[in-house]
Amino acid sequence: MSQLVDKPLIMANNMTDTITKPDMTTSNNAEPNNNVAGQSWFNRPIPGVKQQLTAPLSAVETEPSTKCSNCHSMITNTSLIFNSYVCPHCDHHLPMSARERLNWLLDQVNGELGQEFVAKDPLRFVDSKPYPARMAEAQEKTGESEALIVLYGKLRNLDVVTCAFDFRFMGGSMGSVVGDRFVQAAEKALEDKVPLVCFAASGGARMQEGLLSLMQMARTAAAIERLRIAGIPYIVVLTNPVYGGVTASLAMLGDIHLAEPKAMIGFAGKRVIEQTVRETLEEPFQRAEFLLEHGVVDEVVHRHQMIETIYRLLAKLSRMPNVDA
Ligand SMILES: [Zn+2]
Repeated sequence: MSQLVDKPLIMANNMTDTITKPDMTTSNNAEPNNNVAGQSWFNRPIPGVKQQLTAPLSAVETEPSTKCSNCHSMITNTSLIFNSYVCPHCDHHLPMSARERLNWLLDQVNGELGQEFVAKDPLRFVDSKPYPARMAEAQEKTGESEALIVLYGKLRNLDVVTCAFDFRFMGGSMGSVVGDRFVQAAEKALEDKVPLVCFAASGGARMQEGLLSLMQMARTAAAIERLRIAGIPYIVVLTNPVYGGVTASLAMLGDIHLAEPKAMIGFAGKRVIEQTVRETLEEPFQRAEFLLEHGVVDEVVHRHQMIETIYRLLAKLSRMPNVDA
């Protein structure tokens, strides 16, 4: 402790050559040095008031960092990216943006689909803000034009079409553009006869589009049915959280449902159900592990094993030789 206190004193004394250096053996309980000529009034110690302890800034404090929402430790963004956004202290899976997610999965990106679709405001919906203003805000915040991103390319030696929801974009809600993009992704998979992988993260249908957003449930379900008839694999990865109309359509119609650890997955939220059934629902209700026990999810996969798992499943479903499922 004495080292931490001595450092600012030495720095202060270096400002005036006439001042003798304090005895290095003094502890932080020592009387403050009153020989302070030349010090600014702001840094000047006040008799009887202990000096504030100042430690040198650690690497975490000087680098851009993110706070883990589970264990509250600070993690540098660089180490977070290298660790696939998994907390190195408590293994908590932090959220990933849609584009980061797909770039992380794919070894080669050959193109993007659906950027020509633009959301309209047929209901002229206004809550606390008009819908176009809310869209503009979400676009500025995320740098994306909508809540679903579709990229196609290669996962190792497999051609694949992938899509991912961006939860930061109006809660990953499914409006007509999200539906358009998903259907286009399914049609591309159908045309090229390659598998479709979807990372779901959504609060449900987009209320600002009313009935049009609910229609996307039927549209996406119909597109998935066409994939099923053609024998094209469709894998869903449920990430935290997936709710509402997305759970009730494209997120629960996969050939295989993988989930990230502790992801919250359901239709209605826990509080709504508690108020309806008048019971308290304990943890891990609606968590991925709970749903695995009850047969809704096929496997809970750690993010570090996710790419390998998806690859092996797709290779097996595509009947590639020499791959263990
Ligand atoms: Zn943590």
